[in-house]
Amino acid sequence: MEVIFTGLRKSGQCDLEAVEMAARATSHQLGAKVLEHLLSAPAEFQLTVECACAHQARFHQMRAKQLPAVLGPITIERPYYVCPHCHTGRSPRDHELDVEGVACSPGVRRMMAVVGSEASFQHSREQLELLAGIAVPAKAVERHAEAIGVDIQAREQAAIQQAKQLELPEVCAPAVPLLYIEMDGAGIPVVKAETEGRTGKVEGQPAHTREVKLGCVFTQTTTGTEGRPVRDENSTSYVGAIESAEQFGLRLYTEAWRCGWSRAQKKVVLGDGAAWIWNLAGQHFPAAIQIVDLYHARQHLWELSAKLFPGEEKARKRWLARCLDRLDKGRIEALAKILGALQPGSEELAKSVTTEAEYFERNAARMRYPSFRAQGLFAGSGVIEAACKTVIGARLKCSGLFWTIRGANAIIALRCCRLSRRFEDYWTDRSSAA
Ligand SMILES: [Zn+2]
Repeated sequence: MEVIFTGLRKSGQCDLEAVEMAARATSHQLGAKVLEHLLSAPAEFQLTVECACAHQARFHQMRAKQLPAVLGPITIERPYYVCPHCHTGRSPRDHELDVEGVACSPGVRRMMAVVGSEASFQHSREQLELLAGIAVPAKAVERHAEAIGVDIQAREQAAIQQAKQLELPEVCAPAVPLLYIEMDGAGIPVVKAETEGRTGKVEGQPAHTREVKLGCVFTQTTTGTEGRPVRDENSTSYVGAIESAEQFGLRLYTEAWRCGWSRAQKKVVLGDGAAWIWNLAGQHFPAAIQIVDLYHARQHLWELSAKLFPGEEKARKRWLARCLDRLDKGRIEALAKILGALQPGSEELAKSVTTEAEYFERNAARMRYPSFRAQGLFAGSGVIEAACKTVIGARLKCSGLFWTIRGANAIIALRCCRLSRRFEDYWTDRSSAA
């Protein structure tokens, strides 16, 4: 209260900010006292509780535990029991209050997970202090946000294991007209120890990044003007991790199943030309129409044209226009003919042309764009491209930031969960399980 009056007196005028901040601090302090009182152990409590070893643990003493809570630091007194058989000690009250083995209240932990998934841990610390009046070290935000991410991962892993045993529940729900699966990779900077023995993009140099595999699933019910595809609002969910293609395939398959894979009338897999994407598509989503992102395919032609016609802008444009026309019309065999007719001036150039010709031939069936358009399907993997920036880049590619794989995967799991609008459900499930 003293502070509030000081704020009022400062310059003869009312310093509203000083007053409101002081008033908040004071009401938090009062609230914390009330909370401590409410949480103090009831006068009567059991003298023995069952131990994990099935023997009876006996009341040993009252013990205090300090916790940062939403209203500031609080101290709770709770009975502590020791088992005479296995000598383990514990406070069952901690389990009841959801603070077993953790040094923060659940309310503060949720806030840490939310801010820590959005911004650097240092920035999160500042936000918590300014916006919520909660003073915690950045390291605590990191630890708790990661712990929650690890818990989300563990639950996902349990679902993936079920999927592996083909024990996925059949969901009785309306059919999904059109279900899309998109996937892509994005590199993130990692600490040195995580890249040992791996070669980087530049030959002979060590890697500084590791690839996050990211996938998304969404549905489409209608088409808009001119038959353009429209993504169903709030239907997109994301999964991702730094892991092998095999592990990621199961993760994405599990997600697709959750989103209605078994009820989808038409299924589409969209991606760039990366081999792992089409391997997974064949393995896990054999019934899907496969589409190579049109913009990636165009990019291949742009890049090749620049190599073929350096300094000959007119010739380059003319050649490129012919190629793009064939591509847009899905006439990949005709496009391959144009590439085949080239007479590259150097061995290196010949190699590039062969590589590109093979790329188009290999993916020909995935490039029948007029047919895809006629069916009202997306021809570009824009959703996953954007997700690489929003889900991964925005949080995991900040300059000067180097991740461990464990830490990155925890934050990726947390972000995917939040951006798939599942965090509130997760949090409710988690506390009811506790
Ligand atoms: Zn015991």
